[in-house]
Amino acid sequence: MTKTQQKAFVLGWPIDHSRSPLIHRFWLKKYNIKGKYKRLAVPPDMFGTSFLALHEKGYCGGNITIPHKVRAMEFVDEADLMARTIGAVNTVHFRDGKIFGSNTDGYGFITNLEDQAPRWQAASTSAVVLGAGGGARAVLAALLAKGVQKIYLANRTLEKAKQLEKLFGNRIETVDWQQRSQILGHAGLLVNTTSLGMTGKPALEINLEKLPPGAIVTDLVYTPLETRLLKNARKNGFTTVDGLGMLLHQAVPGFELWFGVCPKVTGKLRNHIIADLVAAS
Ligand code: NAP
Repeated sequence: MTKTQQKAFVLGWPIDHSRSPLIHRFWLKKYNIKGKYKRLAVPPDMFGTSFLALHEKGYCGGNITIPHKVRAMEFVDEADLMARTIGAVNTVHFRDGKIFGSNTDGYGFITNLEDQAPRWQAASTSAVVLGAGGGARAVLAALLAKGVQKIYLANRTLEKAKQLEKLFGNRIETVDWQQRSQILGHAGLLVNTTSLGMTGKPALEINLEKLPPGAIVTDLVYTPLETRLLKNARKNGFTTVDGLGMLLHQAVPGFELWFGVCPKVTGKLRNHIIADLVAAS
């Protein structure tokens, strides 16, 4: 089988909402590759058997999404440093009779930040991160790897933030969820990794008054594209970075592994996904 006939997947439950097929099929067309990228709906109790059969079925790899990302760690032969740090796999590659797992969410987060706010590192010796779920793990790992000195972490369930403080070490300091507006004086970078502000979820209540001038505000939520947090921040003169770019950039390493071409995240791809988000809203 040549590279141009490769077949990849996105596996989750449910899977209809996933935009990954739109992204990868856009690139397959753009680079004139005769590959395939399929949605696979697999319920949690079927994950192990279904996942392990995919290589036999001719797949060369794929994406793993909610709710299987943590579980997938048990089934890969080798996980890269980011996947081990985060404790979850979102990209797999079948090669030499082995399953290689990686996590590209942190890469997607940082690449998006660098793309949309190139001076972010100068502004961000310290950051405030809201949330302590899967997205937060990727963001924390990526920011620490980039040398951010101090990260204040606020989460509704304090215990979960404490667990991450323990996991990631003393550059993380947990703060009470109620203190989230008060600690913004420390934030060159503010990151919302909670699902608050997403269409159908409650809004993120936060007062940006204490945020220093020049701070950058970013949201992992990308439905709506401009969340209330980003809108407020923009109106108050802060640089804002939306979450769609993270989704696009996290797809790049997988596509290169499976199809042999390093794809570009372009305005055209972005508009293609935005059109779909708008149609679905
Ligand atoms: P998750 O693991 O389920 O974590 C959800 C987080 O939101 C937790 O910190 C949770 O706090 C918090 N939360 C939920 N409801 C809340 C409420 N009413 N008040 C306060 N906090 C609340 O989810 P995830 O995978 O990290 O995803 C979080 C968001 O990021 C989702 O909107 C997801 O779509 C988005 N995301 C985007 C990308 C991207 O590529 N742009 C990538 C990953 C995730 P508790 O711990 O207290 O429950």
